[in-house]
Amino acid sequence: MFRKVLIANRGEIAVRVLRAAKELGIPFATVYSEADRDALHVLMSGESYFIGPSPSTQSYLNIEKIISVAKEAGADAIHPGYGFLSENPEFARRCQEEGITFIGPPPEAIEAMGDKVTSRKIAISAGVPVVPGTEDSVESFEEAKSFAREIGYPIMLKASAGGGGKGMRLVFEESELKNAFDSARREARGAFGDDRIYIEKYLEEPHHIEIQIIADQNGNYFHLNERECSVQRRHQKVIEESPSPFITDELREKMANSAIRLAKKVGYFNAGTVEFLVDKHRNYYFLEMNTRLQVEHPVTEMVTGIDLVKAQFMVAAGEKLNWEQNRIIQRGHAIEARIYAEDPLNNFNPSPGRIIGLINPGNPGIRLDTGVYQGFTIPIYYDPMIAKLIAWGESREDAISRILVALDEYRLAGVKNNIIFHQVVINSEPFREGKYDTTLLEKLDYAALIRAKKKELIKKALVAAVFVFIEDSSAEDSGKESGSVSSWKMLGRIQQGIMRTRPFKL
Ligand code: ADP
Repeated sequence: MFRKVLIANRGEIAVRVLRAAKELGIPFATVYSEADRDALHVLMSGESYFIGPSPSTQSYLNIEKIISVAKEAGADAIHPGYGFLSENPEFARRCQEEGITFIGPPPEAIEAMGDKVTSRKIAISAGVPVVPGTEDSVESFEEAKSFAREIGYPIMLKASAGGGGKGMRLVFEESELKNAFDSARREARGAFGDDRIYIEKYLEEPHHIEIQIIADQNGNYFHLNERECSVQRRHQKVIEESPSPFITDELREKMANSAIRLAKKVGYFNAGTVEFLVDKHRNYYFLEMNTRLQVEHPVTEMVTGIDLVKAQFMVAAGEKLNWEQNRIIQRGHAIEARIYAEDPLNNFNPSPGRIIGLINPGNPGIRLDTGVYQGFTIPIYYDPMIAKLIAWGESREDAISRILVALDEYRLAGVKNNIIFHQVVINSEPFREGKYDTTLLEKLDYAALIRAKKKELIKKALVAAVFVFIEDSSAEDSGKESGSVSSWKMLGRIQQGIMRTRPFKL
């Protein structure tokens, strides 16, 4: 298929991609920065190239360095993973120029969809509904003001070049507009070197629901149903699931058709995701298209049984997808929790550092896509997401039970993490009932729930410690040695009690 693939990424996604390459029998090489010398993806590859200092601008984002390493390695394909260079049309073009296959869509499609104003226009021309808003970017505050009056508050200011929530501002009334407009522009200029801003009507209590698509280079387009990604903090996803508990079969069909129409309009091939907002009346609106593999792609893999990364390789190699849309059957339910090294009780501040203890969960239907191991030091330079925990179940209830058990077993000591946050959110009534939208985390007092849960854990730990103490001293009193049964029990209790308290600073 390919002589060799260079995996131009790090962390869990580099591991995910190299595993797919291994299964396909494609030789692979990886890259690493200074901070990633001992990273899991490096340990898992026989061939890994140093690409520069830790800051990503000098390593994982250094186009020329990555191209030169690909040539040195003799790679004829590059998989960019997500983030970094995955949605950079210049990089995709450089690969083309060098005769290296970029495992992703054509550069023109990346470019068209990378600009939110342009992609909205394309969506309109493809007959796909978009969130009401300006057709073009607004040039001045005055223009913004008059348009906002026309569509009515609240509104969203968005950076045309946006992504990752940058340059995005929610504005409730005119008096806030000036500040929001100036600061959104500044932020967009800083993040993207492009300060064009446009306006969207702010939809109240919407759902974020996205359609996974994949197309080959022979014009065969498929969709792999939806993912519900409405559990968001500051407009960034933290928990995703499929199927969505909110949409109907009819709506799914309509959204999927829209997604495919849009993809066809830009001559898309390879995997991609069309994101929509869905209001409470189940009207759907195009939000943006991500022209790469998504973080949350495992949710779709778990319910469809399709390996999206392998499919990406096949499509990039020019192979035909011999699929039939109506034979892509979704089975059961999957939920993903993004595990971050961050402190949920302290504004989710990143908590890089050394992992001193690690117990990974397992069970049928449990999948852990991770980029770390015990002893690894999570660098300060990159996104603090360290793993994704995915649970599959026959029903939504089964998937919830499974992920809760897995979260309960999961131990990450040495760095603060958000495991407990996931436990309380997934256990919350709105989530359990599947009645939530993107405002869930604003409404849920998760800090109080986390504190209550911690108290309960401390109590259990203390009780376990007392048990150990009593058992130990009574064994001594009776003159018996604390034999094997007792010491196993002891170990179990210590693990149950003390280990549990470790990942969280009490
Ligand atoms: P980015 O590309 O910066 O991540 P998106 O346009 O994808 O930004 O939006 C991210 C999230 O912000 C959405 O999933 C949704 O929760 C919220 N959002 C964006 N636009 C709107 C809108 N017009 N109305 C309500 N919520 C919105």
